Amino acid sequence: MDGPRARARYYGREPRGAPSAPVASAAALLWAARASAIIPAITLMPRSPIAHRPMSRTLRTARAAGIAVGAALAAAAPRATAQTPAPIVYTVSVPDPATHIAHVQARVPTSGRASIEMMMATWSPGYYKVEDYANQVDSVRARAADGSPLAVERSRPNRWRIDTHGAPSVTISYQVLGNRKFVTADWVGDSLVVLNGAPTFMTLADTVHRPAEIHLSLPPGWSSATSLDSASDGVLDHYRAADYDDLVDSPIMAGALRTVQFDVDGIPHLLVDAGAVGDFNGERAGRDLMRIVIEASRFWGFLPYRRYLFLNWFHPGGGGLEHKNSTMLTSNAAALDTPAGYERWLTFVAHEYFHAFNVKRLRPVELGPFDYEGTPHTPSLWIAEGLTTYYGDLMVARAGLARQQDYLDWMSAMIRDLQRTPGRLVQTLDASSLDVWNSENSAVGMDTRKTVSYYTKGPVVGLLLDAHIRHLTNGAKTLDDVMRLAYRRYSGAQGYTPAQFRATVSEVAGVDLSDWFARALDSTQELDYAEMLDWFGLRFSPADQWQLDVVDKPTPDQQHHLQALLKPDSEARPD
Ligand SMILES: [Zn+2]
Repeated sequence: MDGPRARARYYGREPRGAPSAPVASAAALLWAARASAIIPAITLMPRSPIAHRPMSRTLRTARAAGIAVGAALAAAAPRATAQTPAPIVYTVSVPDPATHIAHVQARVPTSGRASIEMMMATWSPGYYKVEDYANQVDSVRARAADGSPLAVERSRPNRWRIDTHGAPSVTISYQVLGNRKFVTADWVGDSLVVLNGAPTFMTLADTVHRPAEIHLSLPPGWSSATSLDSASDGVLDHYRAADYDDLVDSPIMAGALRTVQFDVDGIPHLLVDAGAVGDFNGERAGRDLMRIVIEASRFWGFLPYRRYLFLNWFHPGGGGLEHKNSTMLTSNAAALDTPAGYERWLTFVAHEYFHAFNVKRLRPVELGPFDYEGTPHTPSLWIAEGLTTYYGDLMVARAGLARQQDYLDWMSAMIRDLQRTPGRLVQTLDASSLDVWNSENSAVGMDTRKTVSYYTKGPVVGLLLDAHIRHLTNGAKTLDDVMRLAYRRYSGAQGYTPAQFRATVSEVAGVDLSDWFARALDSTQELDYAEMLDWFGLRFSPADQWQLDVVDKPTPDQQHHLQALLKPDSEARPD
């Protein structure tokens, strides 16, 4: 999820129940013309080649994600074994998009049980707010294979119990109201359908890791895009998910889509534009996102997925949500018309993309496996979100997509926001994370008199911690080293505890940083900027209290330190 800065300043607020923004016919024609012609491949040379992997970095347009990569990956999909539970097979259709209603049919194996319990999730991972998805569901019916109706009882607000009469499988049908343009909601409109897993797919209320198949029945001429693998039947718009987690973590966009593909390290990345694209230049954005992905590959030393999608939806609201192999981005195309607006969009996208590493793989121990009917509480969102904002900005700067002063302006804005938040003296950073479920909108739009946002204080603490590590090790180690070491130890099934992450930082710094963390995370004391300013040769401007400027006469060491932060792969200055 993105923070309040991006939302408030560049993307506005989420409109609820806003009417569809129809794609102008002229724009649709332009898309068609572009999509039909494969532009010459553009090859960009990596700035810092990674020796162990051949580099293939090309950019081209593609007709549709499903065609471009889905078919190619179908053959690689693992085959079901005797131990794999039978899948739930969903068919989703939108016979009348103007009604904003999606029709879902689910063929559900019963494993011989006399009754089964189906549930809708109550929240979406990454957005820490209970949402009433079950209330968007209507007309729940069930029938046996011979078509005979089966009794359905609403056993809980988000659950339905179905008598199976011993049938090996039952077919459940229901309707989903898709009238919210938001990253955790469904949208069904004339030219675009957005299906998120949690609000769309009813599932068996058990803990079995059961695969799913998703068959989309789309209006003529539509295409679909998702990070899900194509189904083994090879049919267009048929997908498969390894389990419910995979399904929830893989939003689907369908309709009039414009796709640009680029490859980094031989891995396809797709920028899929939809909605009110206006004058948005997808090919330029694809080139810039490629540079950010190249920078991420340099930072981590690898890319952890087989394919990645930027699902880029334009409408008057805004916000983004991270997923393991994709991100759902919503933004207002008009806000990207200025160079500053476009740069901020890049940092917003870089934030969501960095989440593919930080939180979707390297994660707090509390954030997985998910209980979709319960709310996990973690004090570590300053890492999962705050450090993601810190690195999102750094990725854009390090990719050469912003100037040094731009970066200093972004950090200044966060420091200014923090220092003008009275709640910084009331709520600790750990508590800000633990209390997120009590906030109005997943830590966005909080009462700043009583609370402090981990989206604001988190990246500021990230900068101070990075400077502290660099100072303690005389520049030999950085927060980058902490992230890489933590990833090696705690990504995937394990997750880190708060103590483990702090210990990892101390290990890299070579000093026990318990006292430093106690002050920055566990107390409401003011942060101390002096060390950071001195290390990087910065000062707060005399004219603007929280504006970072380079000091009048930085020492060669200070110049080198700032360069090492913003261009870590450039020639190191010999000591
Ligand atoms: Zn985020």
